[in-house]
Formats: sequence, structure tokens, C-alpha cells
Amino acid sequence: MGAQQVAERFTELYGAEPEGVWAAPGRVNLIGEHTDYNDGFVMPFALPQQAIAAVSRRTDGILRLHSADIEGGVVELPPDALEPGRDTDWTAYPAGVAWALREAGHGVTGADVHLSSTVPTGAGLSSSAALEVVIALALDDLYGLGLPGWKLARLCQRAENVYVGAPTGIMDQTASACCEQGHALFLDTRDLSQQQIPFDLAAEGLRLLVVDTQVKHAHSGGEYGKRRAGCEKGAALLGVDALRDIPYAGLDAALARLGDEEEVRRLVRHVVTEDERVERTVALLRAGDTRAIGPVLTEGHASLRDDFRVSCPELDLVVDTALSAGALGARMTGGGFGGSAIVLAEATDVDTLTKTVEEAFAAAGRTAPRVFEAVPSAGARRLV
Ligand code: ADP
Ligand code: MG
Repeated sequence: MGAQQVAERFTELYGAEPEGVWAAPGRVNLIGEHTDYNDGFVMPFALPQQAIAAVSRRTDGILRLHSADIEGGVVELPPDALEPGRDTDWTAYPAGVAWALREAGHGVTGADVHLSSTVPTGAGLSSSAALEVVIALALDDLYGLGLPGWKLARLCQRAENVYVGAPTGIMDQTASACCEQGHALFLDTRDLSQQQIPFDLAAEGLRLLVVDTQVKHAHSGGEYGKRRAGCEKGAALLGVDALRDIPYAGLDAALARLGDEEEVRRLVRHVVTEDERVERTVALLRAGDTRAIGPVLTEGHASLRDDFRVSCPELDLVVDTALSAGALGARMTGGGFGGSAIVLAEATDVDTLTKTVEEAFAAAGRTAPRVFEAVPSAGARRLV
């Protein structure tokens, strides 16, 4: 699927060529998990898998939406139909973006949209952010708004939080909007300051595999809420705005102050050590020591499994098997309770490693995972 194909289908659907074609990628988080709602650090990079949208302006305020990946015809939304909570279909994502732009005072009067995406949905790779950001960038460009990537990301987050009703942090949209090829994005979720960190795996004979377990445990939403509330409680008990404000050097003292709050203590320990792992990863990559981030990723997994307790048997199986088959490092990525794990490995070990993981899943009587390579790729951009 490329720009031309999407543009041709647009022309078939709407009877005129699109004004332009835009792309926005899905993402993988290299390190920095469950830190975003604690004002902490994250480090995603963009995937080659992306959403592509062909778009033209309209002057009547109507939004017409079509996805190649969803059955059904063009969905037409009149201007007064754009209201949070009203739409529970896939169209809520692009419609929410138009709503958020209008709400912020931007004169977006309507659009015809056809899109197609190669980002797998529900695998923790943020197909939803790709969808939002591609629409935001197209509308920004067509209506000459000139908004920077981080601002588009904020509007997309608002669309997802308020219009779609999903309580997500700011990482996914910022990654999709701002990542650069061959780099990971070191993002401070408190002030959205960001740095591009060189992360060119191929040049070093390395590969990063995404292993999508294809499981999603049903209780994940409720557990996310509990972890979030527990972190807020920890911050309140320690008298800080967010757990990000506990310095790594002061961790032991902070834990001691939490007294018999064992559950909160574990959550605090994960968040504070995870922020430190992000900073360590940045330092190693800056020093050109990419292989050395492997053990940091693995430490992160242990912390998510034992302290934050958001892993699951399938994710642990990927990590344990990959490490035993020679991976440099491995960890669950995303919110947990299913979804994907990442594995850092020598390029020469990838085939054996993949086979070993697949065999372990078969032996455990589990559905085969989907394994693919994650190449640090470009963020959102105009294609045509
Ligand atoms: P993810 O982890 O992939 O972001 P979400 O549940 O947040 O999972 O978002 C997935 C939803 O985004 C899908 O259920 C669908 O509503 C929407 N979506 C993603 N990709 C497409 C697409 N190509 N066409 C239409 N809707 C899409
Ligand atoms: Mg999503």
C-alpha cells in the first residue's frame, strides 16, 4: 500500500483527485513504561508501519471519512455531529481530531478523507495515534495552520481523551508526529521537550524484534486505572506533584518514608528506577554503545513484572525464551497484560531466536506470536 494507491482510491470514492497525501507511523516504546502519567521520561521510535491518508478540503463543514481497512462505505458527518461521546466507531478518531482543531479555534471547515494503515490494531503499536496524527497533519497543512508537531500531538491526545474517551498519555501522538528516521525520541512528558537520539540498529549489525503475543487480557483497563491511582497516592504521600520529582539518588529515603504502604512502594520504585533507565539508555546510545542497552531493557522488564506487576505469562515467555536464546535484552512494551514485547539481538541471531520463541509458544499450547522487525523510521510527513 502506497501513496499512489491511496490517492487513486480517493479519486474513485470522491470523484476528484486529493489535494495531498500524508503519512503518520505507529510506534514502539524502547524504554520508559508507565512513566508518562508520572510526568517522567519515555523513549519511543517510529515504525515503518504507517497510516496513509489522502485528503481534500471542503467548504461546507462536512467531514467525509473512509478507511480501506474497515468494511462499509463513506461515513458523512455534518458539522453539528461532531460532539464528544457521540461516536463509538472508528470514525471517532479522525472526527475527534477535526473537533479538537475547531475547538482550539482553528478554521477547519471540512474535509474528504480516504485512509489506509499498515499498523496492526490493538497490538500496542498505536494504530490509533497514527490515525489521529495523519489527519491532524493533513488538516494542518491544507488549512495552513502551521502548528508544530508537539502541538498537533496535544490536540490528537485531546481528541483521544475527550472525543473517543480513552485515557492515554501524550507519548504515542508525539512519537508519531515527531520521530525521525534512525533515531529514538527522548521525550520529557512534563514539558514535552524532546531530543532525537541516534538509534541506527542496522549500521551496528543489530535488530530489534517486536513480538506481538496477540493476547489482550480483559482486566487491563481496570488494572491501568489502579496503577495510575497508586502512583498518584505515592506522589501525595511523598509530597510531590508527580513521581518524576523523586530523584533516583533519593529513592531509598522516599521508600523508607512510605512505611507500610507496600503496594505503593513497589509502584514508586518502578517509576523512579524506570526514569533512571531511560536516562541510562540515552547516555549509552549517545556514547555509541548500543549493545549495552540490552541489559537495561531486561532490567526494565523485571521491574514491570515484579514491582509494577503489569506483565503476563505470554510476555514473560517471550522475554525469558529470547534471553535464553541469546538476545542482548528483552522487555514487554506498552501498557502490559498482553500486547507486544521487544527483543534486541545480533542480526545473525534473529532467525534462531524467532524460531525458538515460536517453538516455546507451540510447546506451551499458545497461539503463535507475530514477529517482525522494527526499523526506526520517519515520523509524520507529507508524501504527495
Ligand atoms: P492501538 O494499540 O492499535 O492504538 P487502540 O484500541 O488504541 O489500539 O486503537 C485501535 C482502533 O483505532 C481501532 O479499533 C479502530 O477504531 C482505529 N483504527 C486503527 N487503524 C485503523 C484503520 N486503518 N482504519 C480505521 N480505523 C482504525
Ligand atoms: Mg491506541
